[in-house]
Amino acid sequence: MRIRQVFNRLIAGGSAVLLTWSFYAKVAGKTLRKAADDLHLVWIILAVLLVILLILIAEYLERRRENNLLKLFTKKLEEVTQEQKTGHVLVDKQSELYDLGQAVNHVQSMTQSLFKDYNRQKRGYLGLLEYVPIGVMVIDQDREIYLSNHYLDDIMEHELDMVHELYYSALAEFDIVKTVEETFRTKQDQRAEIKVNLAEQTKILNVNVVFIPVSGHHFFVMLMIDDVTEQKQIERMQNDFVSNVSHELKTPVTSIAGFSETLKNGALEDPGAANKFVDIIYNQSLRLKDLINDILSLSRIGTNMEVNFKEVQFSQLVSDCALAYDSLLDERQVVVLNKVPAKMKVQADPGKLKYILSNLVQNAVRYNKVGGKITVTAKTLENKWQFQVSDTGIGMTSEQQGRIFERFYRADTSRSKEVDGTGLGLAIVKEYVEVLSGQIKVDSQLNIGTTFTVILPLISENNS
Ligand code: ATP
Ligand code: MG
Repeated sequence: MRIRQVFNRLIAGGSAVLLTWSFYAKVAGKTLRKAADDLHLVWIILAVLLVILLILIAEYLERRRENNLLKLFTKKLEEVTQEQKTGHVLVDKQSELYDLGQAVNHVQSMTQSLFKDYNRQKRGYLGLLEYVPIGVMVIDQDREIYLSNHYLDDIMEHELDMVHELYYSALAEFDIVKTVEETFRTKQDQRAEIKVNLAEQTKILNVNVVFIPVSGHHFFVMLMIDDVTEQKQIERMQNDFVSNVSHELKTPVTSIAGFSETLKNGALEDPGAANKFVDIIYNQSLRLKDLINDILSLSRIGTNMEVNFKEVQFSQLVSDCALAYDSLLDERQVVVLNKVPAKMKVQADPGKLKYILSNLVQNAVRYNKVGGKITVTAKTLENKWQFQVSDTGIGMTSEQQGRIFERFYRADTSRSKEVDGTGLGLAIVKEYVEVLSGQIKVDSQLNIGTTFTVILPLISENNS
């Protein structure tokens, strides 16, 4: 096309020179040869060469302009594929590249609108993913992150929103990567429960990997991670609770069954032994009753407990509690010093307050030294009031103090072994304090004594 064009132009230039030549011959009434003599052949040749030169220069300039345009088109197309926004190229309608220019501009408009749609859709998916309460990461077939949500960052305790990064350098958890790789290898969905040691805590994660075929060899792998640490802990606690309860129930029941059988098999005939065995059966049945009551209290706490406020004369409540443990106090030669101001009245739920106070006083007697003291004090603070039960007993290590509010926890001391208890008392106390929107603290020193502090909101009569 281009050669023919140059050739045409050369023919046109040559023809122009020949026409001038023959026109001169005609006007001068001479033959062509004579006219050539007149015009001097050299000039004609020079004219022809000049025309050719001008044509080549024009051709060169045109070619350079077209080259520049082609470079511009290439750059445009590159920019378009890289999602850069650029303006259209303007091409002269007469130019041979006009159609190409129009096509490039069209491709550019189409691609830009496709990218716009794609980004809008991607933002939509991401928006949806942000509301899904599990960690999600979509990985492309080159193992690069396609998208991931913030919930995953929270679970993994670091930023994972690194699009186009290799997923395993961002995730870097061996067992999770192994599960994802299994999906890449088998093209099958995978599921696993994985324990990971993260900077802040050890977590149990439910990992689901889904293979998503798109077309031909094109596919995505979607990783979904759910943090089930808390759920697993609750399950473990429930299992522990059931096995602890069964264990605790078994001891008195076995004892009652064993001694009744002994009585039945003849021990009734021996009044001394019979009395002893009946005492044991009676005591064990009391223990069973306490245990069942504790378990019932615990099960009630979970179900929206009702709180009934009444005016309570706290000093009186302390005296009543001390009286209830009179024989135990005598046995251990422990005295209770009631230092609560006699006129102090508080608005509280009497039943729950009594339960909390009795349990603390009972422990203070149980875990006291023979001849020890228990001091109960109370005072009002700004918007709150507090009472303290202090003893001069065996005390606790800081590790034991950290665990005493757990269900069934009993410190492994010789005193605990002597005392019949289930380890549920303080667990219930804590739950009751929380039901009353209060707080309980313990402060103890081994062999010196223990102080429990209960802080409760100060409720005026009108609010109760
Ligand atoms: P119960 O369910 O009958 O109350 P318990 O007294 O063993 O049994 P908690 O009241 O929950 O259970 O107490 C848990 C443990 O905390 C006790 O076994 C004891 O080891 C320790 N403890 C509680 N109070 C004191 C205290 N005042 N001094 C020393 N240790 C205490
Ligand atoms: Mg107790």
